[in-house]
Amino acid sequence: MAQRKLNKQQKTRIRAQQDRTLNNISQSGTDSSINDQQLQGTVIQHHGKQAIVENGSGDLITCKIRQNLGSMVCGDRVIYQISAEDQQGVILAIEERDSVLMRPDFRRNPKAFAANINQIIIVAAPEPELSEHLLDRYLVVLESLGLTGVIVINKSDLLSEAALMMIQEQLQTYKNLGYPIVYTSVKTALGLEGLKGILKDKSSILVGQSGVGKSSLINQLIPDLDLRTSELSQANHGKHTTSSSTLYHLPFGGDILDSPGVRDFSVWHISEQHIASGFIEFKPYLGQCRFHNCKHTNEPDCAIKQAVEKGEISERRLKSYQAMLVEIAQD
Ligand code: GDP
Ligand code: ZN
Repeated sequence: MAQRKLNKQQKTRIRAQQDRTLNNISQSGTDSSINDQQLQGTVIQHHGKQAIVENGSGDLITCKIRQNLGSMVCGDRVIYQISAEDQQGVILAIEERDSVLMRPDFRRNPKAFAANINQIIIVAAPEPELSEHLLDRYLVVLESLGLTGVIVINKSDLLSEAALMMIQEQLQTYKNLGYPIVYTSVKTALGLEGLKGILKDKSSILVGQSGVGKSSLINQLIPDLDLRTSELSQANHGKHTTSSSTLYHLPFGGDILDSPGVRDFSVWHISEQHIASGFIEFKPYLGQCRFHNCKHTNEPDCAIKQAVEKGEISERRLKSYQAMLVEIAQD
């Protein structure tokens, strides 16, 4: 039942889309410098040689990808055309990307999985236990990409007053560094309005350990998520798409990328220099050590270690940085 309704709805959308395209063409008159059949949209899901593109009105257009276009990912802004013959969408060009997020492919080579994301929401919770080192890893990634970072502590309904104080103390370093920290609960709706304010008009991705409540938060933020998922499944000829990365619009403005496979989204492809500058409090001291290639571990006259001794840098953050160097060396 629901399926037939969506089918109709989709047909209506595609027809409306075509009407608009034709309208554009007739309005363009004789101006040959503009090809009005070329439309703009955003890739919201991607499967091999096919992508689902959303236009400015929220219509979904299933598009083929021209072979010479290279890899395409969720969030890519594209120029597409509706072919007059079979009414199929064809992507003609990818617009320049503002940012690209990578993760390792099966050969551990970097592979893009999202474009044009400008904010990373790191979700943590009292359960599973908060890992500061994992927080540091995500922060290094977003700093290396020049993206905004926000720390969300979800499931805060589980925190007793004492536990809340402990977590606040743990996070004090991050607060001092200027990272916004938001306490939320999907159960009591605490902090959700504040989170919406942070997400509004941005393009964000939620990252964090499994079980912290990322899916629960997305469900709260996008009330018609189920409907959208069915529409996408229709656009994919009924294929299951729950394991694909999908870009969703937020009803209050902005986008959110739901990417079930971001577990490997970590620091593995980042250079030592980027790791050091990803610890933003290290920046004023970089270049001031005795050795220009100082790794801030066992070297004498290390400006970073001196800053730790003076209490200007947290010792835990230095240890976390050193652990990351070991991790990338093992990769
Ligand atoms: P994900 O793996 O990060 O996507 O986490 P899920 O959204 O699947 O949530 C994991 C579990 O935590 C589920 O059983 C949720 O019901 C529960 N959960 C999510 N958010 C909250 C919350 O704010 N408070 C409590 N008490 N439980 C939550
Ligand atoms: Zn040093």
